Amino acid sequence: MSGNRTFTMIKPDAVADGYMGAILAQIIDAGFKVVAMKYTKLSAEKAGEFYKVHSARPFYGELVEFMSSGPIVAAILEKDNAVEDFRKLIGATNPAQAEPGTIRAKFARNIGENAIHGSDSDENATIEGAFHFAGTEIYG
Ligand code: UDP
Ligand code: MG
Repeated sequence: MSGNRTFTMIKPDAVADGYMGAILAQIIDAGFKVVAMKYTKLSAEKAGEFYKVHSARPFYGELVEFMSSGPIVAAILEKDNAVEDFRKLIGATNPAQAEPGTIRAKFARNIGENAIHGSDSDENATIEGAFHFAGTEIYG
């Protein structure tokens, strides 16, 4: 199991900007299978918990506010080498530095409101997936 799943969120900016469908299409066209998905909205408390690893960073308050500002799409995705391949698909954190054609290059507003989340390790993919989904909501 480890190594073939990652966790993603389409962030409030991209949902508000109307890119949900285009982003999901790009993810699925790249070979990722959706094994869990929900359209939901994070409370500030939940967003703060999800990003608590960044709680000492200067952008943390803004990040929590932004991530709880509107609905998101949360999903668990399956593919060989999922974490690394998905990070390549989404591009660099700062869309100004993201490779052309990546999801952040195409759809992000700026470094904070950057359209999409992707787990950075297999371990975090498991933790983040379990944060958002019960085992019964995962159809693998
Ligand atoms: N972020 C920000 N300013 C920064 C760095 C990050 O607002 O200088 C936000 C941005 O939304 C980013 C999230 O914090 O996606 C988590 O940061 P991380 O470094 O983990 O980037 P990611 O893994 O999302 O590329
Ligand atoms: Mg990260």
